[in-house]
Amino acid sequence: MAFPGTGKIWMNGSLVDWKDAKVHVGSHIIHYGSGVFEGARCYDTLGGPACFRLDAHIRRLFDSARIYRMEPKYSTQELTDAIFDTINANGFRACYIRPIVYRGYDSLGVNPLPCPIDVAIMVWEWGAYFTKEAIEEGLDVKISTWARNAPNTTPAMAKSVANYANAQLIKMEALAEGYAEGIALDTYGNLSEGSGQNVFVVREGVIYTPPVGNSVLWGITRDSVMTLARELGFDVREQTLPRESLYIADEVFFVGTAVEVTPIRSVDRIKVGRGRRGPVTEAIQQRFFQIVKGELPDTHGWLQFVNTPAGAASGQSKGR
Ligand code: PMP
Repeated sequence: MAFPGTGKIWMNGSLVDWKDAKVHVGSHIIHYGSGVFEGARCYDTLGGPACFRLDAHIRRLFDSARIYRMEPKYSTQELTDAIFDTINANGFRACYIRPIVYRGYDSLGVNPLPCPIDVAIMVWEWGAYFTKEAIEEGLDVKISTWARNAPNTTPAMAKSVANYANAQLIKMEALAEGYAEGIALDTYGNLSEGSGQNVFVVREGVIYTPPVGNSVLWGITRDSVMTLARELGFDVREQTLPRESLYIADEVFFVGTAVEVTPIRSVDRIKVGRGRRGPVTEAIQQRFFQIVKGELPDTHGWLQFVNTPAGAASGQSKGR
């Protein structure tokens, strides 16, 4: 999705014009991948614009920063407010939200510690990640020849910029071979995740997803979907899964902030189930979209309303 090229970006405490939101080429992040980031969404809900589980995303941003010994100079509340300010400054009712904490400009030794910890927030309108057809019918995916990073290399629980070198290899290989997306195994050959999404497998009415020990990001949509699926009465299990579990599944689907809930209809050209979206995926998709759009009661406090006049009028406060 191309950028709009206009609007405001938050950088180290100020809203700057889109074209002026620049970093120096000598910044540490450019050379050594020294940054952590988040991807969240603001939805245009019935009660006004609301961010989905923003507190969990901010928590993960700080967790990622901690793993990399970075201390952002803003508090979680300051960053939450800054995100709302950025959304309001751009006048969006629905958008994708990209905060990034990174090592900036000072020196280029591998030791990152002398470099400042900079923070920026971008927001832009980003609709569905895959086509409407894919959301209804499913994606054709392949098992990547690239494995996810091994435990004790670059940590999977940190959403670090550096991890996306691996993600890009998975994505580009899939596209080059005519697939929409790739699924990677971990270095032991167990099912891990897609380039930017967690994966679920359904068989005989039971829903499975790999545990965080299998080199997956501890996804917030994954957590939400597990909760919603249990509320729908499904047995949901976090379990190490072999590659072939995908081929014999009744249904397979991706989840993530960008992809939301997207079915997979084939893996390595082997049809999953009947080769189209299955009923469990559809039920979860439906429940997920109803929750994020505010069409069902927000019993988990997952919607954090942006402090716009519309949000205020609906009696909702920002944050929790
Ligand atoms: N795995 C990876 C590698 C990702 O980049 C993402 C997107 N952040 C996810 C899983 C899904 O995580 P979430 O639901 O928190 O967006």
